Amino acid sequence: MHSILGKLKKLQLKARRHPEPTYHPAWPLCDEEISRPDMEPQHGSPLFGTLSAELRIMIYRAVLTDASRFLHICLNRRDGVRRRVRSVAHYWCVDMESQFPKWQHTCYGEKFSPPGQEFRPITETDDKLLSLLLTCRIIYAEAMPILYRENVFHFRGGPPLLAFRASISPRQWSSIRHIHISSIHTKDSCMPGAEKKWPPEHIETWDRCFEILRGDKTLETLRIDLMARFDMWGGGSAHNTELILMEALRKMRSIPAKFYEVEINIDPPQEFWDALGEVDFAVIVRERQYNETLYYHPTSLQF
Ligand SMILES: [Zn+2]
Repeated sequence: MHSILGKLKKLQLKARRHPEPTYHPAWPLCDEEISRPDMEPQHGSPLFGTLSAELRIMIYRAVLTDASRFLHICLNRRDGVRRRVRSVAHYWCVDMESQFPKWQHTCYGEKFSPPGQEFRPITETDDKLLSLLLTCRIIYAEAMPILYRENVFHFRGGPPLLAFRASISPRQWSSIRHIHISSIHTKDSCMPGAEKKWPPEHIETWDRCFEILRGDKTLETLRIDLMARFDMWGGGSAHNTELILMEALRKMRSIPAKFYEVEINIDPPQEFWDALGEVDFAVIVRERQYNETLYYHPTSLQF
């Protein structure tokens, strides 16, 4: 009994130290239904009292954006992890020059460590990317759109895109202008139950991603690099691999991005394109080197 009373007292003290905010806790992440709270204009701060809005924007850009590399959105694994973890984490790309498919970047923390592949279940990001945003409500309101508009959000397949979309507000999502997705489709992409692991991509997850992107009217650039293989070992006939690619491309039509480009790893004959019909993306054929050491027998991410 004493311990319960003690815990209640501690909670009361904690509540007094951290009073409830007078504004809606989700502001400004929610859409229009929530009114903008009164904010202290912060004229005493040199950031607002001395610097012009243009200079503040330059500062926000320098801190929050890097157009020269991907802002990877990495899916966190929860299996076997006891503490609560976010569904996704960001990770600035450190492997932009890689000749491998982008889903094989070292950024994902996978490496060969005999007798097999080693992977990073949780991405710990300690770059303090959001620290500036969290210092003050005015800064948050001014800088948040810059973070979303001016970076290239990169997703390794559909699962992190769906998880990221579910973790942010519609307003944040619609602030994103540049998306890159890298994926691999194999004969297993259509297997029932395969949506619970990655790679390969599951065709229904893929379909759900493009359904989201189809409703995204503010997207400026969408780039996809898509690998089709009969299986992870690269077997099977060319015809069967083309059928796998066809199934993936069929889900990718009618995206309202201003610039839409798809890189594929095989060069199908004209009959393939005739059968696929009209598409609204430009196609690049590029066969990238495949990291056989790491991904010959990949350990699939289990969700
Ligand atoms: Zn990377």
